[in-house]
Amino acid sequence: MIPELILATRNAHKAHEIAAMLPACRIRTLTDFPDIPEVQETGHNFAENAALKARQISTCAGGVVLADDSGLCVEALSGMPGILSARYAGEHGNDDANNRKLLAELRVLPALAPFRAHFACAMCLARSGQVLANFTGCLPGCVILSPRGSNGFGYDPLFVPDGFSQTLAELSADQKNTISHRARALEQVIAFLNAVCGVARVSPC
Ligand code: IMP
Repeated sequence: MIPELILATRNAHKAHEIAAMLPACRIRTLTDFPDIPEVQETGHNFAENAALKARQISTCAGGVVLADDSGLCVEALSGMPGILSARYAGEHGNDDANNRKLLAELRVLPALAPFRAHFACAMCLARSGQVLANFTGCLPGCVILSPRGSNGFGYDPLFVPDGFSQTLAELSADQKNTISHRARALEQVIAFLNAVCGVARVSPC
């Protein structure tokens, strides 16, 4: 039985989305472990970075750790910002600067519009430095050049998922959590946790 999950993130938006989708689990994040050092994301792809974070954090924090590494991949930019999504403009987590940089790069490429893109999410569960399982989720859509909406975080105001006319930032949190790359990876995490310990479908642990 796993009584709780430790999320290997200090990103409050990510943690909030994951916690909302895992109502049956007690969630802690790295803000509950201020002494754990920052993990250097030196992987070459989302999956490698998720595994790095999950393994390293789980050697410091007792319990099962869930890491999420995610980002936006734009075809016209050969997959960028990709694994650099959080620090595309230089400063880690500066969403406004990241969005401005992305828009500046796309505005000079009008011939390549509409800008096909996808959000990617890799998740990794680990305990005591050992990977338990890996998961992925993807959300295809297009990047627009005029931001819309104020919900969500990161590149949400610039991204229109396939099948929708609104950006992710115009959808409600519940709508985003039904379709997102994170939700798609987390569905598999929940299935895994249910299979191994029945934890995710029971009432709050
Ligand atoms: P990570 O913390 O290294 O995984 O980087 C995550 C970054 O990817 C965030 O800071 C955002 O820039 C971007 N990102 C990931 N998921 C989302 C999302 O759901 N909406 C918008 N941006 C996202």
